[in-house]
Amino acid sequence: MENEKNKITRRKVIGNLAFGAAALAATPVLGASKSGLSSFSLAKGLEDPTGLYPKPPFKEQKQPWPGLVSKMDPRPDHGEASYKGSGRLAGRKALITGGDSGMGRAAAIAYAREGADVAINYLPAEESDAREVIELIKKEGRKAIAIPGDLREEEFCKKLVAQAVKGMGGLDILVNNAGRQQTRESILDISSEDFDATMKTNIYAPFWITKAALPHLKPGSAIISTTSVQATDPSAELFDYAQTKSANTSYVRSLAKQLASKGIRVNGVAPGPIWTALQVSGGATMEKLKNFGGDTPFGRPGQPAELASIYVQLAAADASYATGQIYGAAGGGGQP
Ligand code: NAD
Ligand code: MG
Repeated sequence: MENEKNKITRRKVIGNLAFGAAALAATPVLGASKSGLSSFSLAKGLEDPTGLYPKPPFKEQKQPWPGLVSKMDPRPDHGEASYKGSGRLAGRKALITGGDSGMGRAAAIAYAREGADVAINYLPAEESDAREVIELIKKEGRKAIAIPGDLREEEFCKKLVAQAVKGMGGLDILVNNAGRQQTRESILDISSEDFDATMKTNIYAPFWITKAALPHLKPGSAIISTTSVQATDPSAELFDYAQTKSANTSYVRSLAKQLASKGIRVNGVAPGPIWTALQVSGGATMEKLKNFGGDTPFGRPGQPAELASIYVQLAAADASYATGQIYGAAGGGGQP
């Protein structure tokens, strides 16, 4: 039994908490122990974060955009086998763009295990990755809504929100996470079509989706944007992408002020180098990919699973005073 297996002392709980007081305040819906404390995923014990996951050098690999998790080597960890929920998002209804892979998949798995229904959007070419996520959500007994389509189209963005609302019977968590990143050595190599695709995906789509979603969001709802350390420390070869991530950060800081009086919180997550499909499908040069994450103080890239709890925390009701904030996870490098 989960209870028996994971009995933990209060001291151990506190010692292992990522979000100290906030997580202790979380409702211990599942597996409440005799001490009255939840016995969920806290008892992992001390683990050295530097040695948790693969380090460079990585094998050369290249996929056509947008890339598939199933073809990556090594396969990223999205928490499929490890994330344990504790009812922190019980009964919530979340829409996650780019929910098939990377940070979006990690958030989708975590949200479902925390008790939320989840709708995911992705490109049609990613159907096989998306199916894996849909099955994992269903396994938790939650509603799983798959809505493929291209976010560069305003009409689709409107339809996406309508379908998510219809499928789940409402919406109270919106995660604008989908993104396009294509590395280009020079500004002269960026065509107008290229530039436009990055702007449409990373800036216009969250704008269109948020406008469509807002009428459905009640007080207590949360909006989360995946921004990047690129917003504040842009790479030379990510000229267009870095600008969109600055825009995502400003989206968070402006919208949080605008929606505060409506009781809707808006926050962002700023990852550093994370091992995802985006990086192996044109997001990074081969040289950068082979040494991916090697220049961070941890000496390795992050895995999507390592950010899942941040997406949960920002959506959870007990983060009630946090809005307009950007939360970083970058292995010691960068600033949010
Ligand atoms: P990912 O490739 O797993 O996810 C990106 C997703 O965006 C894709 O799965 C795809 O479904 C979606 N997408 C792209 N273009 C789309 C379009 N036109 N229509 C619909 N969906 C589209 O990669 P990821 O790294 O998990 O990316 C998620 C977010 O994280 C992005 O916003 C990215 O900018 C951000 N980010 C990533 C890193 C990193 O190192 N991986 C670092 C900082 C920020
Ligand atoms: Mg994908």
